[in-house]
Amino acid sequence: MQSQVNTLPELTEIQELFSNQLQTAIQWRQSTAEERSARLKNLRTWIKDHQLEIRKCLWLDFKKPEAEVDLSEIFPVTSEINHALKNLGSWMKPKSVSTPLPMLGTNAKIYFEPKGTALILAPWNFPFNLTIGPLVSALAAGCPTIIKPSEMSPHTSNLISGMIKELFDPKEVAVFTGEVELATSLLKLPFDHIFFTGSPQVGKVVMKAAAEHLTSVTLELGGKSPALIDDTADLNDAAGKIIWGKFVNCGQTCIAPDYILVPETHKERLVMEMKVFLQKFYDPFYKGISHSGDYARIINKRHFTRIKNLLTDAIEKGATLEFGGNFEESDLFFEPTILSGITSEMGVIQEEIFGPILPIVTYKSLEEAIDLINSKPKPLALYYFGKNPATSKKVQKETSSGNAVINDCVLHFLHNELPFGGVNNSGIGKSHGHYGFLAFSNEKGVLKQRVGYNNVTLLRPPYGIKAKQLIASLIKWF
Ligand code: NAD
Repeated sequence: MQSQVNTLPELTEIQELFSNQLQTAIQWRQSTAEERSARLKNLRTWIKDHQLEIRKCLWLDFKKPEAEVDLSEIFPVTSEINHALKNLGSWMKPKSVSTPLPMLGTNAKIYFEPKGTALILAPWNFPFNLTIGPLVSALAAGCPTIIKPSEMSPHTSNLISGMIKELFDPKEVAVFTGEVELATSLLKLPFDHIFFTGSPQVGKVVMKAAAEHLTSVTLELGGKSPALIDDTADLNDAAGKIIWGKFVNCGQTCIAPDYILVPETHKERLVMEMKVFLQKFYDPFYKGISHSGDYARIINKRHFTRIKNLLTDAIEKGATLEFGGNFEESDLFFEPTILSGITSEMGVIQEEIFGPILPIVTYKSLEEAIDLINSKPKPLALYYFGKNPATSKKVQKETSSGNAVINDCVLHFLHNELPFGGVNNSGIGKSHGHYGFLAFSNEKGVLKQRVGYNNVTLLRPPYGIKAKQLIASLIKWF
């Protein structure tokens, strides 16, 4: 199996392929649900037939445990395909809309046409899921696509490249593997839609490039997703859910709880409960977490150093190490780490952690906790743990986040009926299921007027008294 990403393709090769996809985009405008479904079914068959290879590549990329590959890389994609296959017919069906009184005599419908050529730029942290998931939406919507997977997960990226070559003509779907230079070249092309998943910093670069061609964008970004625990929460229940949501994928999850907010009075009990779960999940035989086959590794040295520096910075500034803190650079192993005594000067509370460090911030009043959340850019997700519906509602109403989950975390990613995504700094546009289909579709409103005399004829110049009365009544009544 190849472990290196390909060398940069010639610019002319990219341009030629893009021109071919432009032709496909025109043909695919008329594609039927059956044709689109056939592509999705082929993709599903390939994935199911190559489950072992997908697992192997993710192990080679960052020792991702088999069960986590099945649950968080394969299942979300096959489920996305199944959901699209079940609903594509109704999603594509033109939607009739009611006729407002001033439009009497007309008829209107919304048609869902494919936007056209699409570019998918993907991250490394769920390299199969977050590359192929958006492709499912693009294919459902009828868009030929160029994909650039992440250079940081080369085994999975090369597997994806091979899969696409087997399943599609390059004028339909093509993969280019490479680094920033390649992404920059691709971003110069006038795509009809760009679907980017990655950091807010690079999201800005993508949006600037898209602006050159007025290309629409879906930006799935990151940020600091808080887990707010209130004094009515079941701490044992919350601890188990947070420990799994945080440390699955070694904390390298865009929607992982980034930090915990807990009443001062409940902190000690919460820490104790979390330690029990860490032991149970990752060290049931007391051999040390580094021996667990169920705990992934950091993706590369650069991120390892970044996370190590965050820990050192917090400890130097007075944080208390409640659990973990051990690491082994040669194996890119970083122990699940819990910190308390967090102050606003520490990096762990300023930037997205994107790794296995979980800072606990204590609060005295709910308002204080809400103010802290609102002092930061809007998060991708907000998690509330508590049994008080009024508090839960208050938190929802007084904060803004891409998504929110009550009494659990991370789970909303797998809910096909929910729009997934951020807001402002954590993202623009939504994905998954119908929302993914809409991201790659132009919702074209089509109005049909009758031939000859109609209501609007009365509004033409010269604007006599009758026309003016009619316009005045439009303002008054409609
Ligand atoms: P990244 O932004 O560094 O890279 C993402 C993609 O952009 C890669 O394919 C990369 O090659 C490309 N890229 C990098 N620099 C570029 C540039 N200057 N110009 C053009 N393209 C460039 O992100 P990452 O490190 O792969 O992933 C981590 C980030 O992604 C975190 O912030 C995380 O929260 C976020 N994320 C968000 C979601 C979501 O669904 N909202 C999911 C996963 C990760």
